[in-house]
Amino acid sequence: MQTFTYYMPVKLYFGEGKLEKVGELAKSLGKRALLVTGKESMKKLGITDKVIKLLEENLVNVILYDKISSNPTVEVVDEGADIAKKEGCDLIIGLGGGSALDTAKGISVVASHGKSLWDYIGEGKVKENTLPILAIPTTAGTGSETTPYSVFTNKKILRKDAINSPYAFPKIAIVDPLLTKSMSPNLTADTGFDALSHAVEAYLSVNANPLSDMLAKKAITLIAGSLVEATKNGENLQARANMALASTLAGMAISQAGVVAGHGLGMSIGGILDTPHGRTVGILLPYIMEDNLPEASSKISQLASCFNIPSSGNVADDARKVIDAVKKMIDETALPTRLRDIGVSEKDIPKIAEDCMDRPDMANNPRKFDTERVKEFLKLIL
Ligand code: NDP
Ligand code: MN
Repeated sequence: MQTFTYYMPVKLYFGEGKLEKVGELAKSLGKRALLVTGKESMKKLGITDKVIKLLEENLVNVILYDKISSNPTVEVVDEGADIAKKEGCDLIIGLGGGSALDTAKGISVVASHGKSLWDYIGEGKVKENTLPILAIPTTAGTGSETTPYSVFTNKKILRKDAINSPYAFPKIAIVDPLLTKSMSPNLTADTGFDALSHAVEAYLSVNANPLSDMLAKKAITLIAGSLVEATKNGENLQARANMALASTLAGMAISQAGVVAGHGLGMSIGGILDTPHGRTVGILLPYIMEDNLPEASSKISQLASCFNIPSSGNVADDARKVIDAVKKMIDETALPTRLRDIGVSEKDIPKIAEDCMDRPDMANNPRKFDTERVKEFLKLIL
């Protein structure tokens, strides 16, 4: 019998229009909020102003920190934490894509613990007294609203790495699919493939359990049914809602099972070359599935029903059809298919291979990699 633990402490508010609740929900967590968000999209759409108004109506003071770019750095988190301390903030709100949400988590840790962000990278370094986090995703990809992870780039050593702490789960997540309607087709595809990678990788992980499998399969079914439509017709709110739910469920799945080599390699590539995260792991996904066939063909074949593929009774055939279905989605959403399309060149391969080996994601992968096999694998996808 398999033994496992399951922990998911996030109070989740899901659905169209749920953003309206932000004021009263924030009020239950604190009186003075640092609102952490990106530089452009939410401001242009008037969402940032709307959130500030809803907070102030509920007597929550707001300090705006709107400096977050993709792949957030140590410096941007440390600076945010200084502001949070100076301003006496007792609540951190993340509004935006995974980058804004992760920065909010990092600020919550640093403002309450005192050192610099990089001191808390890894597992077990964060203690219980973090500032409460309220997460409002505006992309449908990272699932950061339901994970204990937050991912940062250290520019000095060109390394992307994560804090993994049960104390860095958001207290509350508001997942309002209306917020994702403004994503461009490319951003929808990139972030959608992040969610699909989370779900498939959690399903393949050696740490998968019956609950993470259930969450992953539901996420994959939703994505198989809606990602192409959401990419081509961003106004389709049902497709947007399906993707938002899938992303959140996939976040819950990786919180339990972790991810595998697609993310291990994707994080190394992102740290060294500052590539868009979802696009990077999306390119790797079908190749990682293929590479795992010798160890995980049965598990991959079990995903056939998620793609509406009737079971042929032959595991190898079904697994192949599942991988083909993923490739078809890549084609239909116009995601790039080669690593050179995101700026990886042959000279980067040894650095990536060296950087990835100590990552827990590599240890979670069913078929093991050593440095030489990583190099061969990456050359194949270049
Ligand atoms: P980002 O948060 O980096 O956002 C990408 C771009 O999308 C930004 O330019 C942002 O603009 C824009 N944007 C965000 N929302 C919208 C919208 N609704 N409409 C139009 N534009 C929008 O992208 P991701 O969400 O993919 O997050 C990636 C990050 O998350 C990476 O650092 C990755 O490593 C991390 N990650 C974290 C995980 C976790 O568990 N914590 C899991 C997986 C990935 P603007 O800046 O103007 O707001
Ligand atoms: Mn990811």
